[in-house]
Amino acid sequence: MADGFDVIVIGAGPGGYVAAIRAAQLGLNVAVVEREHLGGICLNWGCIPTKALLRSAEVFHLMHRAKEFGLKAEGVGYDLPAVVARSRAVAKQLSGGIGHLMKKNRITVVMGTATLPKPGTVEVKTDKGTETLSAKHIILATGARARELPGLEADGDLVWSYKHALVAKRMPKKLLVIGSGAIGIEFASFFNTLGSDTTVVEVMERIMPVEDAEISAFAKKQFVKQGMKILEKAAVKKLDRKPGQGVTAHIEQGGKVTTQDFDTVISAVGIVGNVEGLGLEALGVKIDRTHVVTDEFCRTGVPGFYAIGDLAGAPWLAHKASHEGVMVSELIAGGHPHPIKPGSIAGCTYCHPQVASVGLTEAKAKEQGYEVKVGRFPFIGNGKAIALGESEGLVKTVFDAKTGELLGAHMVGAEVTELIQGYVVGRQLETTEEDLMNTVFPHPTLSEMMHESVLDAYGRAIHI
Ligand SMILES: Cc1cc2nc3c(=O)[nH]c(=O)nc-3n(C[C@H](O)[C@H](O)[C@H](O)COP(=O)(O)OP(=O)(O)OC[C@H]3O[C@@H](n4cnc5c(N)ncnc54)[C@H](O)[C@@H]3O)c2cc1C
Repeated sequence: MADGFDVIVIGAGPGGYVAAIRAAQLGLNVAVVEREHLGGICLNWGCIPTKALLRSAEVFHLMHRAKEFGLKAEGVGYDLPAVVARSRAVAKQLSGGIGHLMKKNRITVVMGTATLPKPGTVEVKTDKGTETLSAKHIILATGARARELPGLEADGDLVWSYKHALVAKRMPKKLLVIGSGAIGIEFASFFNTLGSDTTVVEVMERIMPVEDAEISAFAKKQFVKQGMKILEKAAVKKLDRKPGQGVTAHIEQGGKVTTQDFDTVISAVGIVGNVEGLGLEALGVKIDRTHVVTDEFCRTGVPGFYAIGDLAGAPWLAHKASHEGVMVSELIAGGHPHPIKPGSIAGCTYCHPQVASVGLTEAKAKEQGYEVKVGRFPFIGNGKAIALGESEGLVKTVFDAKTGELLGAHMVGAEVTELIQGYVVGRQLETTEEDLMNTVFPHPTLSEMMHESVLDAYGRAIHI
């Protein structure tokens, strides 16, 4: 058995590797066990490679608009293998960077699959055999994978999971995307921009169902303008796969089932936590469907075991995983960290136009009994947006009418995934409308719309 560690982290995604670095910074002796790749889904198959693909689509889109900017771009096209190769290279560069960070922080990395035969012990199946490690504290950060619905399972040929879509070998001509959460909409946006005839099917009453209704309606209008077809309150009941030809999808909407042919389907119907095969049940770690149950400090209830990131449930976001990693390591090192406020975790979708939000939607705020004041500011009223040629978008803010607390902020339009952090800081600092109204925003920036939206909630907007 290898020497005892203070902490063993299982899984080197943005939850696990960040937890390991923070624990090492605090003077703990740390090991990380990873079965596949440093950086986890986020760096290798999630956040980063999708953004690299979407950047290619964005540049392609702008090249088509060259004339509008007084420029010439003739014979604009794409080379799919090169687009995919760039995305893979970006992922590889970042995953390699994590290896460097592990070394720099003197973290022991063991490449292999971990199981937990008893408390304090981790067995790792490596290429060379089985290694046994021990530690007082074990942080579970094994992440999640794509959910598979019966009949809609990915086969890598006609029906793709996000992994297949990230290394697409052909451009779909007629694409069906099942599910309009962030993953589904980002792929729909990518392939639609590059010319696939794209249909999105969403079972809920509207696309991007977690977003504010006004924002998702705005985004839908833009997607439809771009040629996307969107079916809401609709479900794909069955896929008839005809190898070498395509798929006939049976789609139910309003009690009626119709069929449509596609050459490619992307299934993006959610994710499930990697809870299996570790031996968690025998240790008494509680699992609710596909995630480990924890308290607000990511403790599982079994002494010495913590669960963070996607494994510990929604929201399935890299920054949530990393923040939990830091919190747990500080807790283990004897610190007194604050639990994360779920309402301060922003969600970003990097489709075209982008969507970003934090806190309560207007509907949720009302449901929770708040009397609200709502501000709105359209991109068309902002000088920088017009200069950029990005005049389609909206910034919406929701305040508690009684206290002036910023309850939520919701945006759709260019660069909103970068802008949202301004409101996140505001919420973290428990900002009120007055602080925001008294803040000076630089000109000309898109951020001025964040100011104007707040001013609008109180009848003081200047540019509308
Ligand atoms: C297509 C796509 C796009 C996304 N885009 C975004 C985005 O833009 N922004 C965002 O915030 N989030 C995004 N996400 C979600 C984000 O990737 C996850 O929230 C994040 O990766 C979760 O981090 P994690 O550390 O919990 O788990 P993971 O990143 O899943 O890492 C878990 C690691 O554990 C390893 N592992 C599992 N079991 C074992 C075992 N038994 N032994 C050893 N190792 C094991 C796995 O190999 C993996 O490397 C996206 C996800 C996908 C699929």
